[in-house]
Amino acid sequence: MRILVTGGAGFLGSHLCDYLLAKKHEVICIDNLITGNIENISHLSGNQNFHFIKHDVTEYIFIPGALDAILHFASPASPVDYLEYPIQTLKVGSLGSHKALGLAREKKARFLLASTSEVYGDPQIHPQTEDYWGNVNPIGPRGVYDEAKRFAEALTMAYNRTHGIETRIVRIFNTYGPRMRLNDGRVVPNFISQALEGKPLTVYGDGSQTRSFCYYTDLIEGIYRLLLSNVDTPVNLGNPVEYTIREFAERIIQATGSASQIVHQKLPVDDPKVRRPDIGKARKLLGWEPSVALEEGLRQTIEYFSGRR
Ligand code: UDP
Repeated sequence: MRILVTGGAGFLGSHLCDYLLAKKHEVICIDNLITGNIENISHLSGNQNFHFIKHDVTEYIFIPGALDAILHFASPASPVDYLEYPIQTLKVGSLGSHKALGLAREKKARFLLASTSEVYGDPQIHPQTEDYWGNVNPIGPRGVYDEAKRFAEALTMAYNRTHGIETRIVRIFNTYGPRMRLNDGRVVPNFISQALEGKPLTVYGDGSQTRSFCYYTDLIEGIYRLLLSNVDTPVNLGNPVEYTIREFAERIIQATGSASQIVHQKLPVDDPKVRRPDIGKARKLLGWEPSVALEEGLRQTIEYFSGRR
């Protein structure tokens, strides 16, 4: 297939490019590099099947030739990033999704939207199933991301129903691994870099809020299965093993062998109290479940971060 990946120089986008190239597809990567990093794809320069275009997908996208699939991964994805780029975050989820869907229509390409567990907001149903409509504060600081992704889901379904294009929606839960930015502000890079530097780990609030962490290789495999499936309604992908953030900090201290302590800082506004995917739908329809244990994923991620300090 000839596949376009928007946000292809980001953490997940670049791993997706690698995976698709390994499957012998031709890959066109678009990124404006505001939170993506050219280093994530520099090893692909010279690869005949890989093309990089520096472009902001909120502007008209022109791609000569045929396209079989468009994977729309462009967006800031860390709470710290979308607080720094609130308007870009809203624009890429709305205008960027519109441009990418318009291109999919023009090329008769299959379209896959990278959505998020943030569509569930601060959830009142636990674990989260795909049929839960969520509890999002539209005007809070996280609203710029949550609402943009909710709009993108609505637009994707509208293009599916109105124009008959083939669409897929993946709701991605917390995912980690090499190529996350050390300073992206999310809990995994924060805790690992703090632990490696012997600084205190900053647990926000009392640390009783929960998350579950999926290693990127598991996630990318699930996304590929979803792309090839015929499932056009949203599918959760993530790891169902849930930790409190306090426990998670302790796991990082243990895994790095660090002497760091834990300090508590203010909980960000609207920080979800719990989050854990119900992956029953992915299990049933895609035959997918994560296989990489936290110890192994952390080992590889810590190795990557150690080499970059
Ligand atoms: N968090 C924390 N310390 C940090 C960074 C994050 O305690 O240095 C917490 C954050 O408040 C949230 C969880 O870790 O409860 C996961 O945060 P992240 O920014 O990774 O993404 P989120 O899951 O909130 O989208």
